[in-house]
Amino acid sequence: MQNDINAIRSRMEAAAQKSGRTVGEITLLAVSKLHSAQAVQEASLHGLTLFGESRVQEAKEKIALLPSTLHWHFIGHLQRNKIRVALPLFECFHGVDKLSLASDMNRIAVETGLTPTILLEVNISGETSKFGFLPEILRDSMERLLSLSNLRVNGLMTMAPYSEDPETARPVFSALRELRDSLEKEYRVPLPVLSMGMSGDFEVAIEEGSTLVRVGSALFGGRT
Ligand SMILES: *Cc1c(COP(=O)(O)O)cnc(C)c1O
Repeated sequence: MQNDINAIRSRMEAAAQKSGRTVGEITLLAVSKLHSAQAVQEASLHGLTLFGESRVQEAKEKIALLPSTLHWHFIGHLQRNKIRVALPLFECFHGVDKLSLASDMNRIAVETGLTPTILLEVNISGETSKFGFLPEILRDSMERLLSLSNLRVNGLMTMAPYSEDPETARPVFSALRELRDSLEKEYRVPLPVLSMGMSGDFEVAIEEGSTLVRVGSALFGGRT
């Protein structure tokens, strides 16, 4: 595991350097979905502290077994009926893709006194099978999203279409960065986080401005 972590970190560093950035600007989120609490424990002994899960029930059971010093992000698609359980478990929600979902999250966050960070998922490629705001719908929703009292909108997230060749993801990543830049200007808000890049394409994502890469299989091996 230590070798895998070191290898990822040096690839992150090389990608950052190549694009005139420093690796310190980029957060490594270790995606532990479908891997055991024990695997997370081991990763944490090697210095990883931030983990990503995509199913609420699985995460709840895992988190209960692990030290409270670890940090957790939700990277899946959050169902309405899971919001109440999920809110106290995670510091940040990456997959917020509808105004109605954000409103429901905010209502429960107000009730429970929580102030989670959210990242707005964008469907850049426009594939109908994908979750995420279409860019023009996000523009139309932005003011309402920013007005939700207990949600802190911290940036954008996307998933590139699956491909063997990471270069095919590059235009998706650069489009997310450009959308972020233009929303920051238009709404005069900082949107510092760009959550983009996974095991197969995180280097290209870093070259295109990613500040948070979500790496699963390259750290933990395959999922069954
Ligand atoms: C599973 C998952 C990842 C990690 O994928 P790998 O290819 O294993 O690195 C990243 N982001 C999201 C949203 C995921 O669901």
